[in-house]
Amino acid sequence: MLKGKTALVTGSTSGIGLAIARALAAQGANVIINGFGDKAEIEKLRAGMEKEFSVKAIYSPADMSKPAEIAAMVKEAENNFGAVDVLVNNAGIQHVANIENFPPEKWDAVIAINLSSSFHTIRAAVPGMKKRKWGRIVNIASAHGLVASGQKVAYVAAKHGLVGLTKVVAIETANDGITCNAICPGWVLTPLVQAQIEARAKVSGKSVDAEKIALLSEKQPMHQFTTPENIGALAVFLSSDAAASITGSAYSIDGGWTAQ
Ligand code: NAD
Repeated sequence: MLKGKTALVTGSTSGIGLAIARALAAQGANVIINGFGDKAEIEKLRAGMEKEFSVKAIYSPADMSKPAEIAAMVKEAENNFGAVDVLVNNAGIQHVANIENFPPEKWDAVIAINLSSSFHTIRAAVPGMKKRKWGRIVNIASAHGLVASGQKVAYVAAKHGLVGLTKVVAIETANDGITCNAICPGWVLTPLVQAQIEARAKVSGKSVDAEKIALLSEKQPMHQFTTPENIGALAVFLSSDAAASITGSAYSIDGGWTAQ
């Protein structure tokens, strides 16, 4: 379905981003993966995708908190593949603390990586999409892009901002063959959430498994995690021709979290 297209997925060395990059590659897209981690592990992931899906894959170590590195990453993608057709803004971090204890540098980092990086990638990629009259932008927001929880002031502000950014870009590109949508997952068991579960278990003295259930049942009517692959499949759908008129939407995939 995406043969001959190029997909850039930020934060795709782990978790949801990795599953999205793999899902797009499985549809024939060449991919640019990005994110931090062990060099040898990342090379294994990159080479593995090329072999498994018969596509080209390159890795960019660009730091999503650094606008100059983001611009260089998009340029590198266009130089290597001629285009960025599908842009998935997924890189994200979390910090949990009451507002009066929230370190300002953590606020800056969460806003930079979870919100501003998408402004910079989209700004760099849209001119090429407009020229080719085709583009798909998928922003990985969160249930926290639609509703709030305590102790997550920067994350909730960034994700609400990302949903707003999605709508503006959708309006501005509506007649250019480009769509821009947000995906709003509930709980997905990735390293980002595992760290939160382990921190809860440390405080409560309960087991990690007990805290997993507690975490789910506090927010979601459905007591199971969404999988990274579920989100990859939704990103593929939003990149398809069947989704050509879906733009400016925020898709919940959250076990009923925001239905309440
Ligand atoms: P993760 O920690 O498994 O992966 C995050 C990825 O972002 C990694 O590849 C990491 O290297 C990369 N990254 C972090 N800082 C970066 C930086 N400065 N520059 C470049 N890359 C950077 O987390 P995840 O759970 O897969 O989260 C992916 C996205 O999904 C995030 O935006 C997160 O907010 C969102 N999300 C996650 C959940 C969940 O329950 N896990 C729910 C809703 C939304």
